[in-house]
Amino acid sequence: MAKVVIKDCQAYRLDLLKSQIEAGIELLGGWGKFVKPGMKVLLKVNLIGPKTSDTAAITHSEFVRALTQILKEHECAVWIGDSSGGAIAGIAPTAQSLVVSGLEKVAKEEGAVIKNFDREGVVGVTPSTNYVDKMYLAKPLFEADFVINLPKLKTHSAGIYTGAVKNLFGCIPGLKKAEYHRLAPNPKDLGHIFADIHQAVKAGLHIMDGITAMQGEGPTAGEVYQAGKILFSTDPLALDVVAAAMLGMDIEDIPILISARERQLGEGALDKIEIAGDYDSPPRLPGFKLPKRLRSLKPRNHAVLVKLIDFLKTRPRINTKLCKNCNMCVESCPVQAINKETKKVDYRSCIECMCCHELCLHKAVELRRDNRIADLFLRLYRGKYR
Ligand code: SF4
Ligand code: SF4
Repeated sequence: MAKVVIKDCQAYRLDLLKSQIEAGIELLGGWGKFVKPGMKVLLKVNLIGPKTSDTAAITHSEFVRALTQILKEHECAVWIGDSSGGAIAGIAPTAQSLVVSGLEKVAKEEGAVIKNFDREGVVGVTPSTNYVDKMYLAKPLFEADFVINLPKLKTHSAGIYTGAVKNLFGCIPGLKKAEYHRLAPNPKDLGHIFADIHQAVKAGLHIMDGITAMQGEGPTAGEVYQAGKILFSTDPLALDVVAAAMLGMDIEDIPILISARERQLGEGALDKIEIAGDYDSPPRLPGFKLPKRLRSLKPRNHAVLVKLIDFLKTRPRINTKLCKNCNMCVESCPVQAINKETKKVDYRSCIECMCCHELCLHKAVELRRDNRIADLFLRLYRGKYR
């Protein structure tokens, strides 16, 4: 039976983090089950972009410090790695993200090695799906003896939720990620690409930083929510199913998890997951804000509403008053739908991957419902079911 351990942890205080992580791992069988002295252990963090740890957009640097210290006590060599999303002036911003996040400093102070996935070479793997013949993943994932996936608890404006399953998308170096967005434009298809990555990488342990979470329009433009939880599992799908339940969602709300279930990446049924630690069922996070897309559709899983998704869908629009002209969105757009000069989006080309919204560091890409009838419909519908 799949098992997910949930531990309370209210602050990024090193002694508290270490004791709660140790207690969580103990309930999964102890560190000896996963690592041995001399092993190279890769911590695959969430480093979506040049964001500080207090934004809740990335795996917190103190969380990574605590794990590094624990693994060093087990005489392991620790690597910290990821590839950020998007592009600044034609290159992925991973190097900048490593500095801004504080992870480079943590690595230096704790004796860990930074693995910038954009600069470490790749290994070609053959995916089960047919979006591409070969998928290229960062080499350190295959050079390490053990990979620990460290997702962040966040909403996602396009994919609804992002956690352990999606976090391995950063194993694809540099700008190639945008190409996969283009090849698999909807979240369900993208979920199959995530499953391909999991099948190739085989992370042996997943530890979610849910101490601060991101609510609303994640994964970068939402608000910080104090969730106070760390989740542990060897099963990425089970971990996400439990985390989603904490947010008031189930797997049917989250297309990437439906794909993960289809690909048998883990356990997708909440009632077949053993929950241990400080809880015996997923603790609901009060007042947690879901993304607009799901809030609009949530009321009663009304079947008719599913057919109205296209009618109600949101589109990205750039607020030129907030825009700083960095062109991150322009260069990251997989279908070149954003005009560099005017910042207008060509909706005939736009595949609504929401990369631009995800990656704008200035919250200048807004999600709007252009359709006034849709807006009116939503207001009436919400009024009726509230
Ligand atoms: S919308 Fe955001 S990402 Fe795009 S150019 Fe403006 S500031 Fe940069
Ligand atoms: S403009 Fe459309 S296609 Fe381009 S990044 Fe934004 S949402 Fe994706």
